[in-house]
Amino acid sequence: MNLHAFTVTWMTDIKAKIYGVISLGCDKNRVDSEKLLALIRSNGCKISNDIEEVNVLVVNTCAFLGSARKEAVETVIDCARYRAEGKLEKIVVTGCLPQAFISEVFPALTEADVFLGINDYDDFFKALQASYDGGRVDMVGKGGCAFSSARVLTTPCHYAYLKIADGCNNCCTYCLIPKIRGRYKSYPVEDLVKEAAELGEISELILVAQDVTRYGEDIYGERKLVKLIKALSALSNIRSIRLLYCYPDAIDDGLIEELRDNPKLIKYIDIPLQHSEDRVLKLMNRKGSRAEYLALLEKLKRRVPGIAVRSTFICGFPTETEEESENLANFLRSAGLTNCGFFAYSREPRTGAYNLKGQIPTREKNKRVKRMYAVQSEISRGYLNSFIGKTLRVLCDGIDYERGCFYGRAYFQAPEIDGKVYFNCPDAVQGEYYDVQITSADSYDLFGRTAGYCEE
Ligand code: SF4
Repeated sequence: MNLHAFTVTWMTDIKAKIYGVISLGCDKNRVDSEKLLALIRSNGCKISNDIEEVNVLVVNTCAFLGSARKEAVETVIDCARYRAEGKLEKIVVTGCLPQAFISEVFPALTEADVFLGINDYDDFFKALQASYDGGRVDMVGKGGCAFSSARVLTTPCHYAYLKIADGCNNCCTYCLIPKIRGRYKSYPVEDLVKEAAELGEISELILVAQDVTRYGEDIYGERKLVKLIKALSALSNIRSIRLLYCYPDAIDDGLIEELRDNPKLIKYIDIPLQHSEDRVLKLMNRKGSRAEYLALLEKLKRRVPGIAVRSTFICGFPTETEEESENLANFLRSAGLTNCGFFAYSREPRTGAYNLKGQIPTREKNKRVKRMYAVQSEISRGYLNSFIGKTLRVLCDGIDYERGCFYGRAYFQAPEIDGKVYFNCPDAVQGEYYDVQITSADSYDLFGRTAGYCEE
């Protein structure tokens, strides 16, 4: 739960209120929260971090999965107790949940006073004022959301996400995102460059979107991800760039060359493949096949020596057989992926797969997830063990007080989703790079020390 609170000077009734934001869900939602924080700050806000002081609480929600919607509702209900215990006066619910489910949540979630959709942030204060003037306010789909480059970072200040597009034109049959976020919409290169330039000194800029690889298709008539990467690489305040959420069929030779040749582009790529078996991929409405995925991975490794590839997979998609699940395990053994996430299929209303016959029982889905983790864990362990005795360049993310050491990430580790490098060092600064000699590994993390560190 990320809480960022601040004071705003605005219209008479609300200028002295103290504001807080809880950002739920993915890193794309986090960027929206950071822009909302900046919008309010630009109106003269002062910042406080204490939820007990907050008069107006914004809960920016995720609604991608049933579990995310449940978390959003529970968060609002949980926070409502601060009306009695703290100084809370208003709860504003923003983001995906009201955007897609307003007719359900407005009558049911009476703890909330204001609802705004994903494109209504320009009317934040107007909606809030209307609520203070009397009653609950549903502004979903009635406001505007002009592109703003201003951000208040909620990540450690040495890394930041850059959302390069919103929405999605792919229609994966398990996914609600296109229904919530609409068609793919890229932000212009010059706007994104301005946004990145204003972030300050950034050791790692992480490009995100529902599908990063399709960047530019809608506004330029062709893909412009490489052009964007080159423009961002020219910024002196950006030390490195990482790519998340690349769709496999759109990884072309130009992007592979950029990964090979651009020293600022981290040799890491996240390609959510979702499955390996052609029949399941077709049911998911995913482009590509097992053979094409293996060929792509082989090409990436051949052309970009040392590249780290992360992926995610869905286990227990409707009708997935035990044999297909085992084939996925075999695919993992052949693919040699660096990091993987596995998720039990979640049956989401309004998606194509919802009505498919052959839904797999939850217990079986979870069993398959566990099995995949066991298989990948051995692969990851072997990969990490190969670094023992070697020196890795590690970006220091901070101090782990419980372990009594620093922690950071090597190039093959993205924040929050991959493992870490724990290391001893006489002194280290967050956001700086250190050469760490790796001394041991498990299936997720690495451990080591810098050259100047002596064990006592
Ligand atoms: S690519 Fe598929 S899974 Fe990803 S956001 Fe688009 S529809 Fe959803």
